[in-house]
Amino acid sequence: MTYANVIVDLSAEAVDRQFSYAVPEGMDVQPGQLVQVPFGPRTLEGFVVSLSDSCNVPPEKVKPVCGVVREEPVVLPDLMELAEWMHVRYLCNLVDALRLMLPAQMRGGRVRERTTRWARLNLTDGELEAFIAANPRAKKQIELLKALKDGDMETAGIETKSALKALVDKGAVTIRESEQRRTPHALSNDERTADPALLPEQKRAVETLTAALSGGGRFLLHGVTGSGKTEVYIRLIRRALEMGKSAIVLVPEIALTPQMVAWLHGRFGGDAAVLHSALSAGERFDEWRRIRSGEARVVIGARSAVFAPVQNLGVIVVDEEHETTYQSDHRPRYDAREVAWKRAAQHGAVLLLGSATPSISTYMRAMPGVRPENRLALIELRQRANGRPLPEVEIVDMRGEFERGNHSIFSAKLATELRACLDGGHQAMLFINRRGHSTFVSCRKCGYVVKCDQCDVSMTWHQAENALRCHYCGKTLPPPKACPRCSSAYIKYFGAGTQKVQEEVRRLFPDARVARMDVDTTREKDAHERILNRFRSGEANVLVGTQMIAKGLDFPNVALVGVVAADLSLNLPDFRSVERTFQLITQVAGRAGRADVPGRVVVQTYDPDHYGIQLAAAQDYRAFYTRESAYRRAALYPPFTVIARIIYSGRDADAVQAAAKAAEKALGEYLDDTDARADTIHLGAMEAPIKMIRGKTRWQVLLKLYFKADLEAVAGKMQALADEAPAGTRAELEVNPNNLF
Ligand code: ADP
Ligand code: ZN
Ligand code: ZN
Repeated sequence: MTYANVIVDLSAEAVDRQFSYAVPEGMDVQPGQLVQVPFGPRTLEGFVVSLSDSCNVPPEKVKPVCGVVREEPVVLPDLMELAEWMHVRYLCNLVDALRLMLPAQMRGGRVRERTTRWARLNLTDGELEAFIAANPRAKKQIELLKALKDGDMETAGIETKSALKALVDKGAVTIRESEQRRTPHALSNDERTADPALLPEQKRAVETLTAALSGGGRFLLHGVTGSGKTEVYIRLIRRALEMGKSAIVLVPEIALTPQMVAWLHGRFGGDAAVLHSALSAGERFDEWRRIRSGEARVVIGARSAVFAPVQNLGVIVVDEEHETTYQSDHRPRYDAREVAWKRAAQHGAVLLLGSATPSISTYMRAMPGVRPENRLALIELRQRANGRPLPEVEIVDMRGEFERGNHSIFSAKLATELRACLDGGHQAMLFINRRGHSTFVSCRKCGYVVKCDQCDVSMTWHQAENALRCHYCGKTLPPPKACPRCSSAYIKYFGAGTQKVQEEVRRLFPDARVARMDVDTTREKDAHERILNRFRSGEANVLVGTQMIAKGLDFPNVALVGVVAADLSLNLPDFRSVERTFQLITQVAGRAGRADVPGRVVVQTYDPDHYGIQLAAAQDYRAFYTRESAYRRAALYPPFTVIARIIYSGRDADAVQAAAKAAEKALGEYLDDTDARADTIHLGAMEAPIKMIRGKTRWQVLLKLYFKADLEAVAGKMQALADEAPAGTRAELEVNPNNLF
């Protein structure tokens, strides 16, 4: 007897284990297959994890598999292994990991192949004549047979259905089915482009990378903006394909990187497939199957494309590796970069992380002294592909503008540059960084920002209670009436949105054609593409936007980039706020001067001497890294430490607070009992920075550990505590989350 060990497709702690089912005689069941099994009174779908000859349940209690959902296994063996690794690494249910491995609608058979039926003439010329002679009155049938002589016809297009049926019954016509592919819009253009000659730096990079294709390797490609990183990816992938291997290219967000898709498609044609959530269920399913069958061997997609069912994996590229979208913020809370690392190791493939502004933790791995198992080899591109220097960046001190009586959101400098840019027939991008939900308080005269005296992060103004709060330690203060530094009364909540900027451009430059891209203007499907196309075509000559316009875009006619308020991200209550600011300014500055038009960049700030702004303006990544990593080390922040927290939420505020306090106590005892206290920097239960979401109160138990701590054990304990959250409260564990809101 063969038994199938099955994970049922239900996400619940209680069923996070394998159940054994008997495989009925004659049923072909394989590991990785989706099957139907009886589960209590119901029939559920489940994933076959493995097969075995024995079973530790008495045979009379074992129920049989009811049937297979799809014939081919949906989870390949290496992906099954990867799911099991995620189960341990991210403390998620195995089924949560397995669900990532296939398009959601494949479960439950909600999406299938779209087939078309074709009628084909099954008679020789002689037989056809004989048929006509024998059935002179069957006019419609004869007409149809004659039409079919010219070629097969789609049955849907044949009007005389009864004639068709009669002919099929007589054997004069046969029906064949063919699958019809649903092609994503992004891949519908068939134009192919040729490879340009590589520049010397690119050539060296490609040589180093391709040499690793036979044994594997991990690399960080650090190339300044416009250095042609994409071309390096393309050549490496081409070489992998020649060796019979496949490739995965991860991008932060498909909608924001239409050019990457277009470029890869232009070079690889039908070998390229895209996978992302904005595809229709049918498109996604068809693309997935094209990959699964080996027909498409280059996969481009956002985070979850790291699970694409490619075989013989040769390369995984993670473009703009510093982007936060690679980390999932819901269960399973995986980091696609880390999964890519693991998957590349499984296959002996090349892992290539690329960025002009690598994250501090990634770059640290490319520095000397890192243990071999954590190391990335560094490859640098220092020159722009167009041979021009990086754009010139000018910092404008907005405090001075204020003193001179300019209360507008545009400095005189930015206004002048914008005028000149428009007059020269060029295009401009105006960037305003409004991310996060909170806002800080600063002095418009001297730039002073209210910070927590314990934590070195800015305090957040809470409108409802009109108080300032530190999101790290919970300290609160009344908002100051005058600036503690210069006594000015102009100390207030800071904020100007994209809409305000757009209005100002229209007011000051009536001839400008302004497009705006932010969360409000991009709610509709394909809105990103429409806005970007308006700008690309020149229909709009000013593009105002949030960080959405900062990454990956390559518009040759952009001569001016304006950063309207660089401080907005500098003072977010997060230890990564300087890193994010540096990345954003560097990236957005990099949008200028990418072709023949020289680029200029104006960065407006109230904090012109801040190293994050200064070094971004100088576009000196290495100096920034040195400075920032020293700060992290001294202030005990990641990557030198680990931050983990359990978020409790629920409608009953007292119960939520009590649950968090109880967990804090239990965790403290655990740390003492296991001698982990020495590795602990800070443990505390407090209100979460956003203390209510959708009517539910939030508390957090925040733990900061030294890097050397046994994180796996401590996180396991925290997960266990989270799993035991009292009724009426919900608890979620987060390890090194992207934000601590
Ligand atoms: P990055 O991602 O490093 O910012 P891109 O890959 O967007 O840079 O490339 C910047 C520009 O340089 C693009 O317009 C690209 O077509 C062009 N480019 C890159 N490599 C070459 C090359 N070898 N020859 C000519 N143009 C190139
Ligand atoms: Zn002041
Ligand atoms: Zn504090």
